[in-house]
Amino acid sequence: MIEILDLHKSFGALEVLRGINVKLEHGKVLVIIGPSGSGKTTLLRCFNLLEVPDRGSIELGGMKLSFTDSKTISQHNVVSFRKKTGMVFQSYNLFPHMTVLGNVMEGQITVQKRSKEDARKRALVLLEKVGLVDKAASYPHQLSGGQQQRVAIARAMAVEPEVLLFDEPTSALDPELVGEVLKVIKQLATEGMTMVIVTHEMKFAADVADTMILMEYGHILEEGTPDDVLKHPKSKRAQQFLNRLS
Ligand code: ATP
Repeated sequence: MIEILDLHKSFGALEVLRGINVKLEHGKVLVIIGPSGSGKTTLLRCFNLLEVPDRGSIELGGMKLSFTDSKTISQHNVVSFRKKTGMVFQSYNLFPHMTVLGNVMEGQITVQKRSKEDARKRALVLLEKVGLVDKAASYPHQLSGGQQQRVAIARAMAVEPEVLLFDEPTSALDPELVGEVLKVIKQLATEGMTMVIVTHEMKFAADVADTMILMEYGHILEEGTPDDVLKHPKSKRAQQFLNRLS
């Protein structure tokens, strides 16, 4: 289970997260939507401490961290916490000098201390899963954006995280490549992978989410099933945001 309580984060004078509460059961998918600048990416980056919150707490996979303005979190705790997560970025962020296979093996060897042979076996299973086993020996620059993103998903899964985090995973892709990436993410959802996804793809969001939150100005404006949030929003501001999309 993941539980976030009263999370606050500022960048200088700008308060980007203003008391966020989120609960997500194991095996469920949370989708975060909202206007540009509402704090979606910042919240997602707090899940793996790429941004360290100023206040509040995060509990993930049996480890709870509390944040206060005056206390810094130890590097040891940051590393232990981050190991429980896998992140897929907008721009793939693959290691350019490594093959596809090397990319999916790397974290297993350095973080999980697996043998090269075990890492290789698991990497091949994951590449099969994302439909790219035939590209194992290729380098990232030899792949399309959609293929690179599928490798990034395999790499994030390779270290067996408690939760996979996606930051607008299709927004850098040409439209014809979006579908292949969304298909892989949907497949993971049906297999019970716990995921938190920031996306602007509303149809996909409605399909894949168990829970959806709509953020605005660092607050959660609406929360519920995709049907609750997209079809029956309670607030006028949410209705206005959704109307602009349709
Ligand atoms: P988008 O949909 O455009 O990606 P978002 O909802 O994900 O937006 P965030 O990226 O979380 O929004 O940003 C929220 C606010 O925080 C924005 O005003 C942004 O400029 C600011 N911000 C984000 N990261 C930093 C940073 N490292 N330093 C200063 N300001 C930041």
